[in-house]
Amino acid sequence: MTEQKQNPEENEDVRLYQKIADRAAELLQEGRKSIDEALKKAGDEIASGGEYTREQAEKAGAYLRRDLTEVGRKLKQSRDTVIAAAEPHRLAAGVQSGLAKLLTSTADFLGDIADRSEKVLEFHTGEVTSPGTLTCKDCGKELRLKATVRIPPCPSCHKTIFRKSY
Ligand SMILES: [Zn+2]
Repeated sequence: MTEQKQNPEENEDVRLYQKIADRAAELLQEGRKSIDEALKKAGDEIASGGEYTREQAEKAGAYLRRDLTEVGRKLKQSRDTVIAAAEPHRLAAGVQSGLAKLLTSTADFLGDIADRSEKVLEFHTGEVTSPGTLTCKDCGKELRLKATVRIPPCPSCHKTIFRKSY
């Protein structure tokens, strides 16, 4: 675990990422949008507010989307595990309970994004990402992120490519 000193410009990108996340969550709660639509609308709204450029908003939106993709991938795996463990008989009979339906629709919702974007596995220095563990692809050093941050270089070997887990 390495402490990160962030300059004001870096903090601005992190704030923007969080703003888009907050707004996209509100739009999703209103219930009429897919995740893709909510992310796009949140970015558009924030860009048209004038505080950030469209380019900044699109970049932050792309970082956020990637983090959601990773969560969706995990969720889909654990959904299948949970359903198989909780309801082997129903699963065999092809019948879904309310729990299974809920897990399935939530996981599918996020997992759809994962299916459509396979090349999201690398995280790079300078990008903004949500809390989780980054592992340096070169030396294996782990960085535990407790907050949304801009990714620093590897504190051990100074390389710039990571894998992420949660
Ligand atoms: Zn390293």
